[in-house]
Amino acid sequence: MQIFENTEIAFKHRSDKELKKARILFKFMEYPLVVKTAGIVANLGIGLRLPLGWLVKPTVFSHFCGGESLEESRELVESLKKFGVQSVLDYAAENKESEDEIQSVAAEIIRTMDFAAGNPAVNFSVFKPSALAPVKILARAGAGQSKSDVSGIEKFRANIKKLCHAAYQRGIPVMIDAEESHYQETVDQVATEMMELYNRERAIVFNTLQMYRHDRLDFLDECLRAASGKNYKLGLKLVRGAYMDQERERARRMGYPSPIYPDKESTDRAFNDAVTRCLQNIDITSIFVGTHNEESLLLLMDKMKEHGLKKGDPRIHASQLYGMSDHLSFNMAHESYNVVKYLPYGPVRYLLPYLIRRVEENKSVTGQSGRELHFINLELERRKIRKNQKK
Ligand SMILES: Cc1cc2nc3c(=O)[nH]c(=O)nc-3n(C[C@H](O)[C@H](O)[C@H](O)COP(=O)(O)OP(=O)(O)OC[C@H]3O[C@@H](n4cnc5c(N)ncnc54)[C@H](O)[C@@H]3O)c2cc1C
Repeated sequence: MQIFENTEIAFKHRSDKELKKARILFKFMEYPLVVKTAGIVANLGIGLRLPLGWLVKPTVFSHFCGGESLEESRELVESLKKFGVQSVLDYAAENKESEDEIQSVAAEIIRTMDFAAGNPAVNFSVFKPSALAPVKILARAGAGQSKSDVSGIEKFRANIKKLCHAAYQRGIPVMIDAEESHYQETVDQVATEMMELYNRERAIVFNTLQMYRHDRLDFLDECLRAASGKNYKLGLKLVRGAYMDQERERARRMGYPSPIYPDKESTDRAFNDAVTRCLQNIDITSIFVGTHNEESLLLLMDKMKEHGLKKGDPRIHASQLYGMSDHLSFNMAHESYNVVKYLPYGPVRYLLPYLIRRVEENKSVTGQSGRELHFINLELERRKIRKNQKK
């Protein structure tokens, strides 16, 4: 049996009731009109600050999120650990503008590090750059910036340094998520500086490479050269990228070439190449492979074997989002690979943009909801047969 197909292992952590609820949710996502309407309502909710919690919390929120606070997420984190799966608690703050908001997000991220330091079920921390500086300032780094832009970037650098230092002190690696490409250059610069400072013995700071960007393989080579030349460890989260439509739309609107590959096959090739190159340089690299793509994970496992690496090598983690692709996470964990679930948490209103992205990703055209439904149906059927046999 292929490694990912054991649904008993994949869903051991879910009750019949939870699986049936998940089935209804993914079935809804098969209807484009439902997905579109949900997106419009959620966006309206964000804009008008409508109280949508009563609708969202028992449905999409409970399926894709840990809770509204660290404490609310604790039970789930412990239950995933029982099945060999670790968690990274992802505080769902993005696009913050005011200094007060930014400082309160930074304080919460440090709380996630404290939570991780005291809990063997949580082994990473994470944040989004747009939660720590106004995006318009990050985007204006470089030539032609005003004095206030310069001081804005300096504040961003200081905020990131505070978080990376806290991560270093606690021995909890921290990942810097990637968002839209027009401000990624600033993030890359600061992330690289932080790696040089804090990744001397092992990777504590991880930058993210979105492999749907056609310049990222070259950037990966540049990162490898810098780490090797300056003698630090490169920490990288590899993903395909979640902002394809926005990227293409912005490029079209502003009249510059799209930074995204023209087709999925090119993105897949680049992602797999990045996995391969990182494993070839594993003496100086740690990777966190964030994907729901079976072929990429099979490639990762094959290449690890080829390089004689142990399944539980501490420099290699595979990760999926909570509420998705349990057949990958739990089967890989069962085989003793390091697997981490990305577990977003925070107030419902903070999580709406994240939930919109998940619903979009699971709509029928991408095939993801079909895959989820297929495995959920198989497991419900298996449990039914098992119960009948016991009677
Ligand atoms: C643990 C984890 C952490 C993540 N962190 C981030 C993050 O920090 N930043 C971020 O942007 N995303 C992040 N993502 C989301 C990720 O980038 C993908 O959007 C998502 O995982 C789907 O890609 P996939 O590799 O799982 O699978 P697949 O379903 O095989 O790939 C879908 C992806 O392929 C690409 N793609 C699809 N169609 C085309 C096309 N026509 N042309 C070019 N490319 C195409 C897109 O990137 C699309 O999302 C994360 C995902 C995970 C699992």
